[in-house]
Amino acid sequence: MTTLNLVVPCYNEEEVLPETSARLLALLQRLIDAGEVSDESRIIFIDDGSRDKTWSIIAALHASNAHYGGIKLSRNRGHQNALLAGLMTAPGDVLISLDADLQDDIEAIPRMLEQYRLGAEIVCGVRFKRNTDTFFKRFTARNYYKLLRAFGVDILPGHADFRLMSRKTVEALRQFPEVNLFLRGIIPLLGFRMTAVEYERAARFAGESKYPLGKMLTFAFDGITSFSAVPLQWSTRIGALLALGSLCFGAWAAFARLFTDLTVPGWASTVIPMYFLGGVQLLFLGVIGGYISKTYAETKQRPRFIIEQTL
Ligand code: UDP
Ligand code: MG
Repeated sequence: MTTLNLVVPCYNEEEVLPETSARLLALLQRLIDAGEVSDESRIIFIDDGSRDKTWSIIAALHASNAHYGGIKLSRNRGHQNALLAGLMTAPGDVLISLDADLQDDIEAIPRMLEQYRLGAEIVCGVRFKRNTDTFFKRFTARNYYKLLRAFGVDILPGHADFRLMSRKTVEALRQFPEVNLFLRGIIPLLGFRMTAVEYERAARFAGESKYPLGKMLTFAFDGITSFSAVPLQWSTRIGALLALGSLCFGAWAAFARLFTDLTVPGWASTVIPMYFLGGVQLLFLGVIGGYISKTYAETKQRPRFIIEQTL
């Protein structure tokens, strides 16, 4: 029989954990009773270096019921690394990752298992409505997915990290050693039979988002630079275009000087292109710097997470 393990990253989630754990256990018990998953199935919480009572809650849950497990990271490493720590260490035939704040509808889990039984190795949870997120979040997310696709990154719109993975695919994921992790971009690269299950995105059950704008932007930049070199090609194209433009401009200036009395007035035509070119150069230095810093991080091959304790 299939052993299912739920992988739930938690960062300062003391407000939602009691409710999340109760609901997940009820669901798991239901699946066990129905004979759909084995009794060894567990719910594994990954404490991503929380500063509140998250870990003591997880420890208490583990003491109260053997179906609860926990992994404590030595410090905060961010959602993607916490998730990876769970995926790389959890045993079982099937792993399902989901957020701790109940935004991912847990009733989609039985439907995911159904798809797995039908032969899918990866089942992606895709939100078909996200009315509960702020307009800003919806707007930026939608356009960001579009941008990623325009850059040639194969990504499933509306899919975040609510997903079922079979043992085979988790082992395949192990072969991706990258430090700059953007899991939802790697998943399509694995291949395997993939299907999707739709669900309605709920509001965060309690507490506030652990993804402030800064973290979100870093994550977004990671997503692009980990999978696409298109921004680098832009620098070449825009540079070539500007160089060509300046050549024409120079030719025109020479012509005007020699054959007409339309003398170039001077200031604006000198200073504006200077600022403009300076800006474009700095912009692309930044883009190139972004790729170099990623290469730097990758060559060091530092561990992506360090486990302090396992329950
Ligand atoms: N999370 C984490 N480490 C972090 C930030 C977030 O493990 O540094 C977890 C968080 O506990 C939650 C999930 O990642 O289970 C998604 O975070 P959140 O709900 O705050 O993000 P949002 O839904 O607002 O994008
Ligand atoms: Mg959330």
